[in-house]
Amino acid sequence: MAAEKGEKKMSKRSTARQKGRDRGQMQHRSAIHDLLRVPRLRLFMAILCTIALTFGMGNWAADMKEPVQAAETEPAMGALCAAEYYGHGWTDWVPDNSPLFVSGSYPTAFRAALSNQPEGSTGTIQYEVNVSGSGWTGTCENGQTAGMEGGEMPLEGIRVWLNGSIAELYDVFTRVLTDGQWSDWAVNGSEAGEVGVGKHIDGIRIAVVKKGEQPAETASTVDPSRPMVALTFDDGPGRFDAQILGALESVGGHATFFMVGNRVGGHADLVQRMAADGCELGNHSWNHDNFSKIPAAAIQNSVQQTNSAIQSAAGSPATVVRPPYGATGGSCMQALGAMGYAAVLWRIDTLDWKTRNADQTVNTVLSQVRDGDIILMHSIYQQSADAASRIIPELVNRGFQLVTVTELANARGGMVPGAKYGAFHQ
Ligand code: ZN
Repeated sequence: MAAEKGEKKMSKRSTARQKGRDRGQMQHRSAIHDLLRVPRLRLFMAILCTIALTFGMGNWAADMKEPVQAAETEPAMGALCAAEYYGHGWTDWVPDNSPLFVSGSYPTAFRAALSNQPEGSTGTIQYEVNVSGSGWTGTCENGQTAGMEGGEMPLEGIRVWLNGSIAELYDVFTRVLTDGQWSDWAVNGSEAGEVGVGKHIDGIRIAVVKKGEQPAETASTVDPSRPMVALTFDDGPGRFDAQILGALESVGGHATFFMVGNRVGGHADLVQRMAADGCELGNHSWNHDNFSKIPAAAIQNSVQQTNSAIQSAAGSPATVVRPPYGATGGSCMQALGAMGYAAVLWRIDTLDWKTRNADQTVNTVLSQVRDGDIILMHSIYQQSADAASRIIPELVNRGFQLVTVTELANARGGMVPGAKYGAFHQ
């Protein structure tokens, strides 16, 4: 019986390992990718691209395709939205295609605006909401409040559209959360939500995309009404990340990896695998620097250098930052805030680096875990990876969604630059 159990465990692990190998082979199949792995060549290509962009070759290519379109290098236009939730007040503005949701409450009023609207374009975002008992509000636009501020009646429906020249180039998609289910996308002013049947909206998500494109689906896998937890692994990347990624892959879970910049270059394949799995790439300074003890410029340099390394490994920089040691004194918070980052801390510290004992790490997590927790582990010890291999399936068994820090934050009201977060409890 015991032997059988052991065998099952073994075969599960080797499947995960096999999966990792397959993924590796797939990546190596591309000849261009192989070439780009040569650091000097990659640098050369980066310089070439910079020259091309500087001299407008990128714009030229974009202009050829879509003569009226703005330059491809400008940040993409997006929708921002906020809502007043009953008993909670206004949320922060959430970015394009991110869920607006406050657990245990419902929205009573709504606002939307646009970010990065192309220069020279005309028009704005317009919207109206259907308030339970009093019906559609009439058109509001660009940050105006739709619905009654301080009201008690829930919203049953919402319509969002664009006007002016932007309406010819972009579509706006809207979906709502009702009874724990996200609706299909409603496009360009069609109604989202079921009006007049005694149901109300719990969450709202709005995305602006160029005509012919669809909103990215990445964030929709998280159900904000179900419990979730953010596992975080610090100090990598290193040789035990593959085991942790295998365990996450076998349950379709996500985690956040706070990486030390100077280790990234040597493990580019792992960093790519994290990104491909939907895990979040986190910044943990260049050399495990204590941000409480160095000046703001040095902190920013350390973060930037690490971001460049992550960017060249995975194609995009880190989306979250955790100061080493959780040290947020001195210039730390002001320096991170100025770069648009919050400090991501934790609620459960497994002390895995100290105990180096898988049983103890498993027990610490499973005896304390709560919905909305951020859990601190390290990916550079075999015992931590062994503990993660046991914790990950057990959390899923207990009904937790394994999400990234940003997924957790987005489901629970978002993060503000310059603030510290250790958990996102309801
Ligand atoms: Zn660390």
